[in-house]
This record gives sequence, structure tokens and C-alpha cells, in this order.
Amino acid sequence: MPKTAITPDDFASLYEGFTAPVSRFDCGRKCAPLNGGEPVCCSTQNAVPVVHKVEFELLKGRSDLWSKFTPYDYATRQIVAELTSDCMAIHCKGARHCERDNRTIACRGFPFYPYLTRERQFVGIGTYWVFEDRCWMMSNLEIVDRAFVEQFIATYEALFVKDGSEFTTYVDFSASARRVYSRWKREIPLLGRAGELLVVEPSTGTIRLGRKKDFPKARPFTSEKEYRAAIKEAGGEVPNQGLRAV
Ligand code: SF4
Ligand code: SF4
Repeated sequence: MPKTAITPDDFASLYEGFTAPVSRFDCGRKCAPLNGGEPVCCSTQNAVPVVHKVEFELLKGRSDLWSKFTPYDYATRQIVAELTSDCMAIHCKGARHCERDNRTIACRGFPFYPYLTRERQFVGIGTYWVFEDRCWMMSNLEIVDRAFVEQFIATYEALFVKDGSEFTTYVDFSASARRVYSRWKREIPLLGRAGELLVVEPSTGTIRLGRKKDFPKARPFTSEKEYRAAIKEAGGEVPNQGLRAV
């Protein structure tokens, strides 16, 4: 795919087409008690947002919500050191100051990434597996809205046309997913382009339609007891309705 010069205006139009929430459920209420009261994906202790430098240019012109991220330990120095020259790490003022219209593509899409097959087909969206022990949403994929999946896919398809390096990044990332899950001897859960559950056999890349029992559940989201114990250990407060999506 040829590399074209992506502009701040391109990101502005991508933002306009990617407004759907992951689900109608405010999932931050479920993970924040495990994370000092802040949603896991909104604190750089957990997830450092990485953006295209052009995306930061757009955001800087629209808001003072974001600034350049300064690494504070070995792990975050590694993240910054491994960035490609057109990307940068940034951080926002925190969940209490969130501005919905000025969220990055990464914020809008979390906890998902575009999954590409070995044949480079964009068949669905996978989850950032390193967060499975903290992100409640990843253990509740059955409530992800179809509108979200469709907007996610349309956004990344448009992005891939504008910026071929993004496409290559996710071709490589999807290959890493297959390696990691293959090592774990686990199947990869995906949401297909119409929001359906798909399951990838990682060593062959074969994809089948998932069944209800294939929806992944990771600890501590496997049982009410596990969840409550994890919140207790983190010093948080159990939300109303506990683990359940109600
Ligand atoms: S997407 Fe995951 S990490 Fe982010 S707020 Fe929802 S449950 Fe928490
Ligand atoms: S902009 Fe909003 S969604 Fe994005 S990291 Fe900050 S608080 Fe979270």
C-alpha cells in the first residue's frame, strides 16, 4: 500500500465517523475499582496512548487536554524508544477532564485493534490481550455494539488508505497475536465485521464462527467471588451489581 501524507483534517474527519461507544454500558465503573478509581485505559500507569504526530497536531489545535508524554520508568522509556518516527506518546489530563470529541482514535477504539489475516484481510477486531486481567470489557464481548464495530472498521480502512505504515503495523501486530496465543495454546477471540464472534486457531490462522461458550472470560472477571477479591486487594469499592453488566 503506498504511503500518502496524512493531514490533521484527515484525522478530524476520522473522528467524525468514529463516535459510537463500545457498548451502551459504562464499563469504566467495572474496572476503575481495580485501578485506584480511574478507568484502566485512561491512566498512563496502564496504557500510554500512542498517536500519529499529525493526530497530535490536530488535538493541540482543538484543546489543551493532551500533552507530550514523559516516560517515568524503564517500561515507559522502552515504549517511547520503540516508537516509529511518525508516532509519539501523549497523555491526557485524566478521566475527570475527558472531552469526548477530543479523544484519540486509540481512546475511541480501546480495547480493540484491527486484526489482519496472514493474507492481509481485515476480517475483524481483536483485543489487546495484555489488559485482559484489568479490562472488564474484554470479558464481556457479547455486549459490544455492532455500530461500534462497524465504525471501528470503517475508520481503520480509511486510515490504512491514507497511511500505509498503519496497515503494516497491524499486519505485524496480528502476526504477534498469533504467535502469543499459539504459545499459550489458546484461540484468539475476534469480533467480525458484523459484530459476530469469530475464533482464530493461531498456529494455522484458520477462523471459525464462535459459539456462546467461546466468549472469553479472564480472571478476575470469571466469577463474582474472584472479582470481589481482586477489588478488595486493590483497596477499591465494589460497584452496584458487582461483576454483572446491568
Ligand atoms: S474499555 Fe476496559 S479498561 Fe477501558 S474503561 Fe472499559 S473496562 Fe475499563
Ligand atoms: S481522552 Fe478521555 S478516553 Fe482518552 S485517555 Fe483521556 S480520559 Fe481516557
